[in-house]
Amino acid sequence: MAARTFKLYDTLSRQVKELKTQEPGHLKFYTCGPTVYSYAHIGNFRSFLGADLVVRTAKALGWKVTWVSNITDVGHLTQDDIADADGEDKMEKALHSKEGEQFANVWDLAEYYTNCYMEDWQRLNLTEPNVRPRATQHVREQITMIQALIDSGHAYETPTGVYFDVNSDADYGRLSGNTLDKLKEGVRDVVLDDNKRQQADFALWKKDDHHLMQWYSPWGWGFPGWHIECSAMARAYLGDTLDLHSGGEDNLFPHHECEVAQSESFTGKPFSNHWMHVRYLQVEGEKMAKSTGNFFTVRDLVERGFDPLALRYALISVPYGKPFNFTMQGLRDAQGNVERLKECLRRVEEVTAQTHPKESNTSASSFANELNRIYEEAIGAMCDDLNTSVAIAKALEGAKAIMREPTLSVEDANSGAQFLTKINDLLGIVQTEGASPLAPLGGANDSVTLFEGKSIDAWITERSEAKRAKDFTKSDKIRDNLATAGYELRDSPEGTTWARRPV
Ligand SMILES: [Zn+2]
Repeated sequence: MAARTFKLYDTLSRQVKELKTQEPGHLKFYTCGPTVYSYAHIGNFRSFLGADLVVRTAKALGWKVTWVSNITDVGHLTQDDIADADGEDKMEKALHSKEGEQFANVWDLAEYYTNCYMEDWQRLNLTEPNVRPRATQHVREQITMIQALIDSGHAYETPTGVYFDVNSDADYGRLSGNTLDKLKEGVRDVVLDDNKRQQADFALWKKDDHHLMQWYSPWGWGFPGWHIECSAMARAYLGDTLDLHSGGEDNLFPHHECEVAQSESFTGKPFSNHWMHVRYLQVEGEKMAKSTGNFFTVRDLVERGFDPLALRYALISVPYGKPFNFTMQGLRDAQGNVERLKECLRRVEEVTAQTHPKESNTSASSFANELNRIYEEAIGAMCDDLNTSVAIAKALEGAKAIMREPTLSVEDANSGAQFLTKINDLLGIVQTEGASPLAPLGGANDSVTLFEGKSIDAWITERSEAKRAKDFTKSDKIRDNLATAGYELRDSPEGTTWARRPV
């Protein structure tokens, strides 16, 4: 196979261009993750799926991928998306809401929604990022960056916090098109704050010694602004310049514009060579909103009996750069197509299961060649700005070719199995990889005796009892001890499960 060029629309240069890596064959990629104050909705997941498809395509091309996707567990204010850093912290507000009553504190709330997010991630068969850093675990890096920005004249302190001086960055607005001139014309709502040099300046640090999550800094007690976390974490894991940065369309401004301003002012180097933004999702032709009853999370649809793979199929069926109208009919159609792919897999596995491994060689038969051609067309479509509608059509075309054969020879079944494996690696719509969703994360060795002679299950029971008795010092201690022993706990309404983690 001739080397392919992976082309992707770049928001910064406003054109479809080759996705280039600084290090040959190694993609350094950062994706903005969720703010864990409630369940992520299917629109959020459409954005993560776009990133997942980049990773899958790059891997299919034989690239190595280092993918970092953060978890925002502090600092995202309720008005961050329309103006700058005013309003309440989303995490703190959620704790004081009706749903928040079940949590002992804001840390528990963050942990609960982080676990739910990772479960939904698994359900939708998304590739696991290499690192999932949390904002609260990287406050030190954020403080270091803020101090350097103050020292170099890009930021200044006021009685309420530390702000980035957008006038100090001549390129501000280059990514989103929201230049300072346009902002002066009132492109966005701004919150008046007399302490800021200009209203477009955004917060790097908020002083607040009453906040539920606070850290000590050179500017007193408080917490970091939302934008600085991504600049700090991207740099910590991927270096000064990324090959690709992605997020939802709603992240473009102000979040990504602010990330660029901070990072480039700090390093003096380009922050990311390529930018990808996934378009909004509508539901039945309308903006998704809780008030209109068309707001869906992954778990809502799974509870209604839909196969998570069908949901994945539906969410990627329209290329990421096009607006997408999610409909129940579309989801039902997707379910039918996923069933067809699974049926096809069962059919080839019936033959290959009876085959001795020695016979498992594929031949260069015309059938194998046909499937190879179809797969090459599928990967070709993905390299053409992730054209998922063509790639999925190719998956179905291959399945049809396999089902067309009245009987499958061993060679043909092997070719079919190989095709479906490669299609699944590329699109993830044939079968779920990794842990099976919602199965207990624990496994065969749950009777292994841990510290103090108790099994993992005994410790989980003891922790649940401590939680019920509101002895959170004890319950946290048990969780920490288990983490040290290599057992990560996940709490959900169905109970606590665990996963073995390398220590
Ligand atoms: Zn971000």
